[in-house]
Amino acid sequence: MDCTPSQHEAARSEAFGYICRACSRCCQHKVIQVNPYEIARLARRNGQTTAEFRAKCTEDGAGSILLRNESDTCIFLGPEGCSVHPDRPLVCRLYPLGRRVLADGTERWLHIAPHPQSEGEYTKKGTIADFIAKQGAIPYMRAADEYSDWVREAYALIEAEGEAASGTGDGTPKDLLDMDTAITMHCAESGTDEPSDIEDRKRLHLEILYRQLNRLKGGEDDYEKADQR
Ligand code: SF4
Repeated sequence: MDCTPSQHEAARSEAFGYICRACSRCCQHKVIQVNPYEIARLARRNGQTTAEFRAKCTEDGAGSILLRNESDTCIFLGPEGCSVHPDRPLVCRLYPLGRRVLADGTERWLHIAPHPQSEGEYTKKGTIADFIAKQGAIPYMRAADEYSDWVREAYALIEAEGEAASGTGDGTPKDLLDMDTAITMHCAESGTDEPSDIEDRKRLHLEILYRQLNRLKGGEDDYEKADQR
């Protein structure tokens, strides 16, 4: 269920400000979760396909958590700071805030305890809304919600129908959550051109995912929930 704009506005009206001093301590000892949209942006920045990025830059190649090096530091932390800063994931944009969306769509903002030696400075100048806008977090939050909704529906289907609903072994892409693979297969089958814009690719990817879910439910292949947003 979607939260209403006024509910979002109320949650985001809290006074908050944070000045990053680029000490990089927040990039250590952290589990950085990523979704297909974040992977697509990072992969494009690195000149990789999403499949290559998942294999080389995420834990166990599973495409859900960024790799860390031997000192438990994010692999993208370089001598000058974050090497993928313009395309950094949502959790990095929101830090030191955390965002939780409850099942009813209500948004909660959490304050994450900083690293003890963090050089970042907290202020009360501005609001959470100002902060997330400045961080360019809105499209990332939208994508996180969209993929979370799909995952919730997929789990509900698997729970109801067992492993048969997992969608493998019947001609579907081995891993539908790999955006480039899913889009390339879909466009080859449908004889359409692949979109290049990342937001368009996300939209098409979600459409493919929902179509697959609907097909597994025995419905028509015209379910375009992604377009209803
Ligand atoms: S992606 Fe960048 S900001 Fe995020 S943890 Fe890695 S180095 Fe830090």
